[in-house]
Amino acid sequence: MEHYEVTIVGAGLSGITAARRLHKQGRTNFILVDKGKSVGGRLATRRVADGKVDHGAQFFTVRTDELGEEVQNWLKEGWIKHWFGDPYPRYTAIDGMNSLAKHLAEGIRASLHTKITQIVKYPDGYRVYDDKMNVWKSDKILLTMPVPQVMELLKASDVEVVDLEMNKLRSILFEPAYVGIYHFRSPTGLPEDGHLDKNLPKDVERVVDHQKKGISKDTLVSVYMNGDWSRRYYGEDYVRTLIREKVDRYFDWKDLESEQLKRWRYAQAKKVLKESYLDLAGDGTLVVAGDAFLRENDEAGRTRFESAFLSGKDAAAYLSW
Ligand SMILES: Cc1cc2nc3c(=O)[nH]c(=O)nc-3n(C[C@H](O)[C@H](O)[C@H](O)COP(=O)(O)OP(=O)(O)OC[C@H]3O[C@@H](n4cnc5c(N)ncnc54)[C@H](O)[C@@H]3O)c2cc1C
Repeated sequence: MEHYEVTIVGAGLSGITAARRLHKQGRTNFILVDKGKSVGGRLATRRVADGKVDHGAQFFTVRTDELGEEVQNWLKEGWIKHWFGDPYPRYTAIDGMNSLAKHLAEGIRASLHTKITQIVKYPDGYRVYDDKMNVWKSDKILLTMPVPQVMELLKASDVEVVDLEMNKLRSILFEPAYVGIYHFRSPTGLPEDGHLDKNLPKDVERVVDHQKKGISKDTLVSVYMNGDWSRRYYGEDYVRTLIREKVDRYFDWKDLESEQLKRWRYAQAKKVLKESYLDLAGDGTLVVAGDAFLRENDEAGRTRFESAFLSGKDAAAYLSW
């Protein structure tokens, strides 16, 4: 049976950041797994016609020196650019947000298409089971999926957890998000930088033109609905029509070539925790991290790219003891 020192479940930004930190420390006996076909999680980019659309995070902001230092490197590498925003820059990835995740995960052993279905605690460590009947031994486990998915996995598992930490985990609430994706045959009248988040119709959070953003030849637009609206209409079959009605006046719909809908079941945390990770087992062997886990002094107070980055980093430092 394979035996790893650490299994990191989830190759979103938190998991990748944790893996990078372990890698930097010279540790090699760990594995990063994700059920998806690519690393990145909610740093998600989709190919549509002759272009790409970001349909998860669009950009990120920087409030800490730790992320600030990394950002300087990523700028030098040519992976990201300053998209808009002065004096508070919004950074975005040159080739779509998922490409940044791919760059960050370079050189790290990742097992994709691997859904973890159960974890069982034995006296000599954990056994980790995936959906293809593989099982391996792991001394420590870091879970970085959205908290409802962590709860789901724990329910199917046989592990010892501390009640207090479980109650903290239960207090975190995630919201869904709908994103309408549109391919138009003609350019839009959206601002030059391709980003609009002011004076929009009620419940529309953001509208982005990816041609103007610089990641698409074709005119590709994404429309983000807010969490309240997405929860209210979650699973309804007329969501597409409602989103189009909301943004009707912004586009020339007779030029619409195609449309798609992305539904995020767990998009962002509505209720976060002011701890950058949780030690579920109380002995440092089963740790939970992710964007909903904020440092106590977090200025923004909400789930985002930077909170995922810092949580992954802090959790990896804790696991290394
Ligand atoms: C629509 C949308 C818009 C957003 N906009 C912004 C923005 O503009 N700016 C910003 O800063 N942030 C934004 N965010 C938030 C940002 O994307 C997240 O905070 C960040 O990417 C979360 O990273 P993470 O690693 O914590 O989680 P995730 O990226 O969700 O990674 C978790 C990973 O776990 C995997 N996984 C789940 N269950 C299992 C399992 N059982 N086995 C194996 N793998 C599993 C998933 O496939 C996923 O890849 C947005 C998010 C969404 C959805």
